[in-house]
Amino acid sequence: MSDDCIFCSIVAGDIPGRIVAETDDALAFLDANPMAPGHTLVIPKAHRERLADLSTEESRAVFDLVHDLAPRIAEAVDADAHTIGVNDGPEAGQEVPHAHVHVMPRFEGDGGGPIHAAAGSRPDLDDDELDEIAADIAAE
Ligand code: AMP
Ligand code: ZN
Repeated sequence: MSDDCIFCSIVAGDIPGRIVAETDDALAFLDANPMAPGHTLVIPKAHRERLADLSTEESRAVFDLVHDLAPRIAEAVDADAHTIGVNDGPEAGQEVPHAHVHVMPRFEGDGGGPIHAAAGSRPDLDDDELDEIAADIAAE
């Protein structure tokens, strides 16, 4: 637990949250400033800033809960689809430094874009560069 972390305070029950599901290692609650009805955040209960800081068990707990909840959220708000994503780091738009997965219900004609829109303009990468990147990632 981090004393000055808003999401740790929700886990601890020190500030209110609209909690929709809880497991041993993960918690899900409605986003307080939703992009859509049913916009939900799924977090590790332990204070972890970035996705890479989660243990395998914590990661499983978070993503299992995302997998379990997404259809339930869709059912509850009559959504057609979801955008599911993580702003993993401030440069990607992370404002709350406690890792969280956004589950955003999507509706036909809602005016939103695909997740590709989050990454800015498309880089111009040739086949050799793509091969090199794939090899570097595979070697890590
Ligand atoms: P991010 O930009 O990925 O860090 O998103 C943080 C999200 O947390 C935003 O969508 C906020 O609306 C949401 N948020 C901030 N404070 C609270 C809170 N106390 N309860 C629920 N959601 C919150
Ligand atoms: Zn925290």
